[in-house]
Amino acid sequence: MTPEKAKATLAFLSMVSAAACCAMAPFAKFEDGMLSKTRPAGWLLRACRMQADGLAGHPEALSYPYNTCLWAGTIPRMGVHGQDWWRYEQTAYYTDGILRLGYALGDKTLIDRGEAGVDYTFDHPSADGFLGNECLWNMKRFEQKSGKRAGGFDMWPFAVFFRAVKAKYDASPDERILSALTRHFLAHDKKRLSTKRNIINVEGILWTYSHTGDKRLLELAEQAWRMRKPRPKNIEWNELAPANCANDEAICMHGATYCEEMKVPVLLAACTGKKEYLDQAVNVERKLVRDNILPDGCPETTERVRGNSVYWGHETCDVSDYSWSLGYFLEATGDASYADKIERCVYNAAFGAVADDFRSLQYFSNLNQFICTSDSDHNPFKYGLTWMQYRPTHETECCAGQINRIVPNFISRMWLKDAEGRPVAALYGPSKVDFGWAEISEETRYPFDGKITFRFSVKEPRESAFTYRVPGWCKAGASVKVNGESVSPAAPGEFATIARKFSDGDTIELDFPMEVRFEELPCRHLVEFRDADKFGMKRPAEAFADSSQGTVVCRGPLVFAYPIPAERTEDKAVHANMNGKKSANPDFKCWNLRPAGPFNYALAAHAAVVSSDGDAGDGFFKNPAAVKIRVPVRRIKWELVENRFTPDIPEKPVVLPGKEETIELVPYGSAMLRIGVFPDVSKTSP
Ligand SMILES: [Zn+2]
Repeated sequence: MTPEKAKATLAFLSMVSAAACCAMAPFAKFEDGMLSKTRPAGWLLRACRMQADGLAGHPEALSYPYNTCLWAGTIPRMGVHGQDWWRYEQTAYYTDGILRLGYALGDKTLIDRGEAGVDYTFDHPSADGFLGNECLWNMKRFEQKSGKRAGGFDMWPFAVFFRAVKAKYDASPDERILSALTRHFLAHDKKRLSTKRNIINVEGILWTYSHTGDKRLLELAEQAWRMRKPRPKNIEWNELAPANCANDEAICMHGATYCEEMKVPVLLAACTGKKEYLDQAVNVERKLVRDNILPDGCPETTERVRGNSVYWGHETCDVSDYSWSLGYFLEATGDASYADKIERCVYNAAFGAVADDFRSLQYFSNLNQFICTSDSDHNPFKYGLTWMQYRPTHETECCAGQINRIVPNFISRMWLKDAEGRPVAALYGPSKVDFGWAEISEETRYPFDGKITFRFSVKEPRESAFTYRVPGWCKAGASVKVNGESVSPAAPGEFATIARKFSDGDTIELDFPMEVRFEELPCRHLVEFRDADKFGMKRPAEAFADSSQGTVVCRGPLVFAYPIPAERTEDKAVHANMNGKKSANPDFKCWNLRPAGPFNYALAAHAAVVSSDGDAGDGFFKNPAAVKIRVPVRRIKWELVENRFTPDIPEKPVVLPGKEETIELVPYGSAMLRIGVFPDVSKTSP
């Protein structure tokens, strides 16, 4: 180290220690960081354990690159497959997922495996202070030295890995992490930071700023964001930038990139209080919902966002990325609608993309999927390949890492803190949280039931406040009781705060009546895009004019689906697109699922009978399901395409002769083959 550098290092170290700044982004309404103090309970605990026994705990089943040292060393390259940054992006997702799951469960094996990567990374910075593998420090230098092409995303994998760093810091704060992150980020070139997904490092930069108060970090983040420009002619790598976040035009771009980049302006808003950034953030999320949201709560992303057709699905990465980004929207704004969206996305799309034993997952997951085999992908991208199959290994590996983040990330945001550090029950599910002065048990079968009891265990009575949310779907009105006495509830879609002196044994009971809703979906529309064929996409079907896409049956935050009986056979074939990857654990198989019963049902009336077995059991991973809804249907003409693809929703369903029948729906996340969107003949059928 040169004397100048040593001086500079000392100068910022003293700046870091002098900044006794609060950890919260200064203009945010809520703050996270309670993960290591939160324990899932009930069905959620059993689901977490199933994940730990499944994909999270068995990297050998996920194959490359998960069966390597992860970030605790240099990950070997596998032939020519993938770009250099891939294996660090993918293993960063996985490290974040297993570390957070480890904290939620108190599972030492998972914690040790995740922390090993964080510790190694901070023990091996470059001479300039860059963290992570050499190929991520400086693309140009790496290319010159190795003679290999690094790709233009060299800074991006650390943006993912930062989330594992944050998880570890939240569990055990260590000043050395803050100083090393400050040095790492300040070594970034703002122009490179402003390009492509490199900008997502703003997440780590502003988190570090919130903890240190070092204004150089805030300046770096603001400058990089202001330098960005949209690239609408490049549909593969169009980018979110101040201009297209602020205007009303539909955006066509890579879905995961959209879901990741949309958080940048909201993070800037939380750190600066500037309306300009908040307007950009709220608007760009609104546009994603307007143009692309699917009824299971995740945007259409296969892999580019290009419309709202329920015939197409989403990449599993986007369930993770969208719900994680929404968490920052929730924290920055305190707007309860973002919490509703997180619940809808995770409680439907996430569980709908993973098998009922958490041992295999889909890359593309669809509302309607009547067949999931090695050649049944009907989405425009990778048409006819393995991407809709439930399997532990996938051609592109990102989703297999990301699936492990979703539930632990959800648990990370179930309990937030308000500006005074007081409890906010933000996302609902069975859990227990420790706020130091109070332990709060959340006893509930939610989302299978709308009754929730919070039980306070308090050492010394204390004046405090408890914030809860009334979900936007609860139009029937919530009931709220404090120690059995009714209090007036908040309106649907609002947070409310109960301020009082809390004593041991206090209870707060919430009751959100769950009525069955028949949601008619809006017309199909498409975002124009160019060069479709260049990316192996089939051109989209013609838009339906002035007709709804079908009807979805909902109750509370859950979508209900018809579980099509499936013939399930192991797929032992070695597919060429798998680049030699296969599960090294015989208990983790690839499946071919073919329909073993009728699926040609249309809703005959908007009438429903709800039944519940009274026990949420293993939640989504349970047969019989925790809640069932019976609906009347008629059979229509609706068949597989080429005997291997799920058909599109018929625009004008043709009802077959025969009587009305009743079928039983289960939570969407419990059905592997399913009808999630029904053709609706309730108004046309005799
Ligand atoms: Zn993915």
